[in-house]
Amino acid sequence: MDLKDSPSEAAFRAEVQEFVGAHWPPARSAKSEPTTNMKDAWDSWREALTEKGWIAPAWPAEYGGAGMSVKDQFVLNEVFAENSVMNIGGLGVMMLGPTLIAHGTEEQKKEHIPRMLAGEVQWAQGYSEPGSGSDLASLQTRAVRDGDEFVINGQKIWTTMGHTADWMFMLTRTDPDAPKHRGISYFLLDLKSPGVSIRPLTTMANNQFFSECFFEDVRVPASNALGEIDRGWYVGATTLDFERSGIGNAVGIQRSLNRLLSSAQDVPEEETTLDKHSTRMAFADRFIEANVAKMLSYRIISMQDHGQIPNYEASMSKLFVTELNQRIAALTLKAYGLYGTMWDTKRKEAQAGGAAGGYLNAVQATIAGGTSEIQRNIIATRGLGLPR
Ligand SMILES: Cc1cc2nc3c(=O)[nH]c(=O)nc-3n(C[C@H](O)[C@H](O)[C@H](O)COP(=O)(O)OP(=O)(O)OC[C@H]3O[C@@H](n4cnc5c(N)ncnc54)[C@H](O)[C@@H]3O)c2cc1C
Repeated sequence: MDLKDSPSEAAFRAEVQEFVGAHWPPARSAKSEPTTNMKDAWDSWREALTEKGWIAPAWPAEYGGAGMSVKDQFVLNEVFAENSVMNIGGLGVMMLGPTLIAHGTEEQKKEHIPRMLAGEVQWAQGYSEPGSGSDLASLQTRAVRDGDEFVINGQKIWTTMGHTADWMFMLTRTDPDAPKHRGISYFLLDLKSPGVSIRPLTTMANNQFFSECFFEDVRVPASNALGEIDRGWYVGATTLDFERSGIGNAVGIQRSLNRLLSSAQDVPEEETTLDKHSTRMAFADRFIEANVAKMLSYRIISMQDHGQIPNYEASMSKLFVTELNQRIAALTLKAYGLYGTMWDTKRKEAQAGGAAGGYLNAVQATIAGGTSEIQRNIIATRGLGLPR
């Protein structure tokens, strides 16, 4: 892969940069541009993205996307990440949308895609259960047919923002006698349905990020099944995310290192450990690793660009980036000395105030979306050909 932009990629990069400067609300307020109020600024950001098809750039234009090439998505994600632009489509656009486009009926697409892009409906992912995380195919939440409906009983857990979501895409067991990967069906469920109860769970970083969801005789129309009944495992497996290749995370890592270096100036010099040999060595190591993370992302982009589907390569990138984030969080604590243990993010030494929370938050990503051990298993078996 050529690491330099082609002339057309360079032009696209400039276009995205200009777009961000003109529309991204924090960029506008940094330029002290008058905006009537922040809500209007965010609405106009959404409108501008919608006009370009950039909320879901990989989707075909007929579904509101931009039909963008892999390389251009890479440039777009990179510029967005450099400017800390947050994705506004949520899990719906990121995960469900591509699955709906591939497997949904015309009615399902018409009902869900426009509302997803307009941000009117927030989606949650109902896969994990108390006894089924890494071994997801062992899931037990039952859906039993009753005429034109299915009746759902069971529990989901660790559901990201489940307590604020409107709808859930979920995996249920419809045939308990079939081998475990078969007999699973994929449903779209309105979380306001009677029999659904959701409780937020508090993470060790003291925020309510995910939740547990209980289903007691919840009725869902059979027409809300996505794909064939009992073939849901294979529908779920096609939820391939070509838009988020990890490049955003890799760029984000470089940015947080830069920010750490510059914001450490806000802390009285004698309170930091920046002059210590071991801190300086750690900084150098993290900078090298940040570049390795970027190369792993480039490899994935390059594979996708050549029509290949990344397999153990995606595991390598996920594992490396999420564990590197933990090492950077640990370095942040170390660099700030005692200030690193402060919880109060409103202090002048705001970055230091966030260090303790950042350290605790950095753990999540090594578990979500497949734990580090599972990624290592994939690399060992599929990448290195070691026995299972
Ligand atoms: C922040 C966050 C957000 C999440 N959001 C969602 C969400 O929105 N929707 C959703 O459905 N789920 C979500 N999850 C759940 C996540 O997918 C699971 O936590 C994850 O798959 C691990 O499953 P588990 O928690 O059941 O752990 P287990 O699978 O029980 O694993 C426990 C430990 O055993 C290890 N282990 C398990 N099997 C093996 C093996 N074969 N070889 C070696 N080690 C093994 C694991 O690595 C882990 O250390 C989220 C999790 C987190 C942390």
